[in-house]
Amino acid sequence: MSRQLSVTGFFKKPSSGGLERGEKRGSDVLEDNEEGGPAVTAVLSAAPGAKATSSGKEVRREYRVQWEREFTWLRAEGGKMFCDICRRAKANNGFVKGCTTIQKSALNDHKSSHSHIESCAVVNQSVQMEKHVEKSQVACNEALKTQLKVVLHMANTSTPSHQYPKLIHLLQSAGCPNLNTAHTYTHHDTVYQMEEAIAATITSAIDDRIASSRCVGVIVDETTNITVEKMLITYLSLQQNGEPETVFMGNYAIPSGTAECIAAKIKDVLSGRGVAMSRVVGLGSDGANVMVGRKNGVAQQLRQNDCPYLVNIHCGAHRTALAA
Ligand SMILES: [Zn+2]
Repeated sequence: MSRQLSVTGFFKKPSSGGLERGEKRGSDVLEDNEEGGPAVTAVLSAAPGAKATSSGKEVRREYRVQWEREFTWLRAEGGKMFCDICRRAKANNGFVKGCTTIQKSALNDHKSSHSHIESCAVVNQSVQMEKHVEKSQVACNEALKTQLKVVLHMANTSTPSHQYPKLIHLLQSAGCPNLNTAHTYTHHDTVYQMEEAIAATITSAIDDRIASSRCVGVIVDETTNITVEKMLITYLSLQQNGEPETVFMGNYAIPSGTAECIAAKIKDVLSGRGVAMSRVVGLGSDGANVMVGRKNGVAQQLRQNDCPYLVNIHCGAHRTALAA
């Protein structure tokens, strides 16, 4: 009758009092024990994998950690042997399901099997592909960085967007290394998308600074754009670590220049950027009646409805201009 061997201590290193290499355990030991290297490290359950020899003795199957040096793809889990490469290639063979024949000959057979060789080729191809994609991604990022710098420069110098393709071609002809890739955009529509991306990044950084300022002051002035549309240019005055700072909020179209309309736009802009009106403690303006009027000016409306502690400030530069 086949003897059930214990699986206790499977894959554990033998204690000092354990069996030494080549030492018989009262049953047959596989030929792998003839190899050099550390002592036997694991014993599998003889049932159902154990074999009975012609002499009637059962064969004890033993796993050797040193096999992993020769077969780098070998992994032992739960009393079975697996192949990392075949697993990764999603092959269909015994070393994916788990091989219970704990013999070196099984490893050699698997190594030379068609399925394993095919898995090696698949994995190798996949690694090459990953490297190629990574390299392509780096080149793409560098190309985009260069193009964003061009768009930022254009915005800072008020260069029309239709000049973008010419600037890119100029850089390419000058040998700019980052632009000699497939990731270079040359259509001027790209400028708008890049401007939006740059604006979103700058806005996000400004919003962080606004959030860290306990109180804010609003600075506004009426203006017009190139089509003589009425606009309200808006800044916020912040306090950062005890130091004053002014940040640009935007230039917004307003339907009319009445105090109600301007006050509503200020509240709308601040609400959209997450600034509670209770944090507003100052309003800087050009001193026009619509802004500072004592009965119904913008400052008075904000003070009455939302910001009781609002300080109304008549811009010093505008006052000087009036005096001149
Ligand atoms: Zn394999």
